[in-house]
Amino acid sequence: MSDSVNLKAKLEAHLSPDQVTLLREAASAARSLSRPLYLVGGVVRDLLMDQPIQDIDLVVEGDVTLLARTLAENLSGDVVAHSQFNTAKVDILGQSIDIVTARHETYRRPGALPTVKPGDIQDDLRRRDFTINAMAVRLSPEPSGKLLDPLDGRRDLSAKLVRVLHPGSFRDDATRILRALRYEQRLHFRLEQDTAVLLRRDLSMLDTIGGHRLRRELALTFHEREPRPILARLAHLGVLGSLHPPLARNRDMESMLARLHHGIPRLQLLHYLAWLAYPLRPAEAEGLIARLAMPKRWAAVVRDTVSTRHFATELTSSASPAAVYRRLSGLSLEAVQVAAALETNGAARESMTRYAEEWRKVRPLLTGQDIVKLGVAQGPQVGELLDLLLEARLKGGTTTRAEERALVRQRLEEP
Ligand code: ATP
Repeated sequence: MSDSVNLKAKLEAHLSPDQVTLLREAASAARSLSRPLYLVGGVVRDLLMDQPIQDIDLVVEGDVTLLARTLAENLSGDVVAHSQFNTAKVDILGQSIDIVTARHETYRRPGALPTVKPGDIQDDLRRRDFTINAMAVRLSPEPSGKLLDPLDGRRDLSAKLVRVLHPGSFRDDATRILRALRYEQRLHFRLEQDTAVLLRRDLSMLDTIGGHRLRRELALTFHEREPRPILARLAHLGVLGSLHPPLARNRDMESMLARLHHGIPRLQLLHYLAWLAYPLRPAEAEGLIARLAMPKRWAAVVRDTVSTRHFATELTSSASPAAVYRRLSGLSLEAVQVAAALETNGAARESMTRYAEEWRKVRPLLTGQDIVKLGVAQGPQVGELLDLLLEARLKGGTTTRAEERALVRQRLEEP
């Protein structure tokens, strides 16, 4: 079936003029070097689904460096990265494309990085995650535009199915569990029946994956246009619990997502991270930070979320704005916003929300310099007076610089 399919016209219709030029030049460079060259992966899937094209991935049979250099030279671009793994990134015409040498991959043990040998395009398609991502379009030799679909990806695209290429796929690389659910929800597909069984069977294989690879997959999920249905599936199928067992305890993750969406208008990656951390106890949060080898910023959001949740009960209606400010200032804003969206105590939620929306931006009108000019020696007393001014402003007691100066003078005159 695929023998008869030619995507040349579709390519020209869906790519930008610069992308078309780039592919034409890449094909001509490959021809001059007698190297077969293919467009592969997500771009072929998206093209067949008439979706917008983002990144261009190319596979060349044979040495990648020569092709990357020739292409960069012909179009005055740069080869920005290449490595012993036979991959190259080329920056040309304002975009960057990845080119890799066609490869054959085998896994010595679950979760290990694959053993890589040069191969042909058929090998390269067989190492991929799902049939819908295992198609290629030939750019060189002619006829260019020809679709290669040895694993029947088009059949699964029309049936809207995410299907692994073989039963050991999730064992080889359990990051594919997260990838499968990302595609399933993003494309509004279903897991093919056997793939669904394998995914459940192999959840424990997530233990074989190192922290930073897992974190990368989670970050890609958080960055999706609609993370919510994907995260709900990760919770529902027990993927989150397999990543970090305490996350299995909370049966409420999906309804928490709904409250998050209701409470925060523009959700960002760190909000989803805070959602993940919210049900955890402090020691469990430390476990999650270690499991995902989190960088400082992520770790701070996780810790701040858990601690905000735990002292939320102190932020009742009797807590003054200044007291709330003192408790929450210095914590990640995303942590406070998420803790507010998920808090069930109305008074505590109100305090956190007002802090996030108004109080955290409040500063005294006078600066430290202004206070020194009023005759106060440089030193800790300046800081104490600034705190006093902040508190007065938060209470609405002062609204002008003159009122703040009067307050400082009054304090200085106190015995
Ligand atoms: P997206 O639209 O999410 O960018 P993509 O298909 O371009 O989708 P990438 O993560 O950029 O996804 O990967 C490019 C291609 O590399 C995929 O289409 C897939 O064929 C292959 N691939 C990526 N990760 C894996 C993996 N863990 N196992 C096997 N193949 C993979």
